[in-house]
Amino acid sequence: MNALSATIRNFRRAARLLGLDSKLEESLLIPFREIKVECTIPKDDGTLASFVGFRVQHDNARGPMKGGIRYHPEVDGNLLLPCYFHHLHITEMTNSEELQVDPDEVNALAQLMTWKTAVANIPFGGAKGGIGCNPSELSKSEIERLTRVFTQKIHDLIGVHIDVPAPDMGTNPQTMAWILDEYSKFHSYSPGIVTGKPIDLGGSLGRDAATGRGVLFATEALLNDHGKSVSGLRFVIQGFGNVGSWTAKLISENGGKIVAVSDITGAIKNSNGIDIPALLKHVEETQGVKGFQGADAIDANSILVEDCDVLIPAALGGVINRENANEIKAKYIIEAANHPTDPDADEILSKKGVVILPDIYANSGGVTVSYFEWVQNVQGFMWDEDKVNRELKTYMTNGYKAMKEMCKTHNCDLRMGAFTLGVSRVARATILRGWEA
Ligand code: NAD
Repeated sequence: MNALSATIRNFRRAARLLGLDSKLEESLLIPFREIKVECTIPKDDGTLASFVGFRVQHDNARGPMKGGIRYHPEVDGNLLLPCYFHHLHITEMTNSEELQVDPDEVNALAQLMTWKTAVANIPFGGAKGGIGCNPSELSKSEIERLTRVFTQKIHDLIGVHIDVPAPDMGTNPQTMAWILDEYSKFHSYSPGIVTGKPIDLGGSLGRDAATGRGVLFATEALLNDHGKSVSGLRFVIQGFGNVGSWTAKLISENGGKIVAVSDITGAIKNSNGIDIPALLKHVEETQGVKGFQGADAIDANSILVEDCDVLIPAALGGVINRENANEIKAKYIIEAANHPTDPDADEILSKKGVVILPDIYANSGGVTVSYFEWVQNVQGFMWDEDKVNRELKTYMTNGYKAMKEMCKTHNCDLRMGAFTLGVSRVARATILRGWEA
């Protein structure tokens, strides 16, 4: 099942558990605004090139909308309101066949951001956007021009208190610096217009590690709740990029044993525990885990079904599905990636007694520290890294407790606990602001 279908299905289930008014349910589902703009730039050779940029602003009931901007060839300008309207007519969520539409993953991610910021209890809504382009085929100056034209086209529709973009696939702190500069030409110096900025322009200390550190805090909260701790347990991690590598580093520093890791170059295993500092050095030198001397190479397809206590998918969506769910040996799955578990796999794993910590809680450390960055920008005051990490732990721990309360109230699993928590907070804010007026 694709990302949008899965997100909508989880939202619908949460809405039913909460007994949400059906009109409010539809209103919460449809994006607040979709923006599509044409961006033409002169290329370095003097010819003109046109691209489509867009931004889906899903919901702003709890505060400015928040979400990444990605530069990727598959980001296209076919906006999705028709897909949402298609879903309005679906009442039963049990048959995945009924939900087959052709959605853009980015639209699902905009909605997911709304629920994620609410679960994290930070005063933001959800958004996502991007430009349909292949950044590897553009020079740095072409990407800068494209970023500036895109910002010129949308500057009136984003804002420090309207919609705050962040880096995503194909974009980085430099891209955010160009958005900041271009936006500031129209609205005066505005570091809070983006997060994920370079530290010299108001970026936050601790942001780079934040998602991985949040995954550690989330994992600790879950394991402690089950009378266990990170120390001594065996972990498998799929993906060794920003999130996977920070998660591996912090888990091993806290006594966890990382027994297998994979990335796009391959998969490796060492049942005695992989030396993570040595692996980080190897990856820095060779750009991948492949060829690491301190472990054996294994079939990359088997990483998710390796023997372990805790499985952490930290790479792609949809990797845990009905084809492999039965083979999974982990007792706990921590969703560091966005939507790694297909709803069909959810059901299979739940029957097997596997506990899944859902993405909208487990990987919310990144957006939480983005919120801290925004707070520092708005206050004009910089926090030290210890404060950032302490505050992050408080938010992650409180998030876990609130999610568990919802599980008790609605007699549901952690995914529905997170969704009912997020959806109920957004619904309350929407009602309080007077949605029927
Ligand atoms: P990244 O690009 O830094 O790393 C991705 C990793 O996945 C790389 O190691 C890559 O080699 C690996 N990978 C790609 N294809 C793979 C495959 N087929 N098998 C195994 N590994 C593969 O990305 P990231 O920032 O670490 O993000 C990872 C996931 O976490 C994504 O789903 C992202 O949406 C999600 N996420 C990231 C953040 C963040 O702050 N970076 C926040 C929330 C969620």
